[in-house]
Amino acid sequence: MNDSLLDENLRQIRDSVLKLCAGFGDAYWMEHDRTAEFPETFYRAIADAGWLGIAMPEQYGGAGLGIVEAAVLMQAIAESGAAMSGASAVHMNIFGLQPVVVFGSDEQKQRMLPPLLQGREKACFAVTEPDAGLNTTQIKTMAKREGDRYVVSGSKIWTSTAQVADKVLLLARTRYCQRAIFPIFAQLKRHFIANISHSAYLISAAEYDLTFLAPPDRSACYALPPPLF
Ligand SMILES: Cc1cc2nc3c(=O)[nH]c(=O)nc-3n(C[C@H](O)[C@H](O)[C@H](O)COP(=O)(O)OP(=O)(O)OC[C@H]3O[C@@H](n4cnc5c(N)ncnc54)[C@H](O)[C@@H]3O)c2cc1C
Repeated sequence: MNDSLLDENLRQIRDSVLKLCAGFGDAYWMEHDRTAEFPETFYRAIADAGWLGIAMPEQYGGAGLGIVEAAVLMQAIAESGAAMSGASAVHMNIFGLQPVVVFGSDEQKQRMLPPLLQGREKACFAVTEPDAGLNTTQIKTMAKREGDRYVVSGSKIWTSTAQVADKVLLLARTRYCQRAIFPIFAQLKRHFIANISHSAYLISAAEYDLTFLAPPDRSACYALPPPLF
């Protein structure tokens, strides 16, 4: 990367991240690629240095910076030799929580964001389904009201880091209306996860600890987050 294009702040971000990443050389990434293990030590180092909150609001423990700073961070991680393995290990916590920031109440943000930004919890982002890739309006996962709870059923594929995540931000619909799609923040319960080795999991009548970030009974439409992968 030609860092003469960056201003002083961006260059400082890039230099700090490259310095941190230098502690994780080719042998580290080779070993994790070979064993398919989550790079926990790398993730911890990034969290402890405060980078997970780079684009999150300051009142929830973030740095309050923007998408450009976050992009420079991700670029430096990838460039260091960590490539997709390193970038995918942290990108959900950096970019994927925007629906919480945009749609969440103060109470939800206070509850959900700090543990993720501090790296005490990991989250994954579940949009893609076997029959719905880029066209997210075709997703079929349903969140159906049953008494005082919602039951989610459907299947998601390609959910990066689902294997190690504590929380999932998933998109589901509450009725068969093309535009009624809602972001939901849920506890990921491991025993509901199947086919995980294929980067896919089935959510079959799973009872989740659900928190709708947007009220599911409103007829308003919500803009879907932009593709993040
Ligand atoms: C490494 C990796 C990690 C991923 N992580 C996640 C994750 O964490 N969470 C998650 O939800 N998903 C994840 N995905 C899934 C990813 O977001 C999807 O692969 C992506 O949305 C594309 O979907 P698809 O593969 O079904 O392709 P499709 O949507 O079927 O598209 C196939 C091809 O057709 C083209 N195409 C599609 N529609 C049109 C159109 N209308 N006009 C012209 N061309 C079109 C596309 O450009 C593409 O080339 C991941 C994928 C990869 C490879």
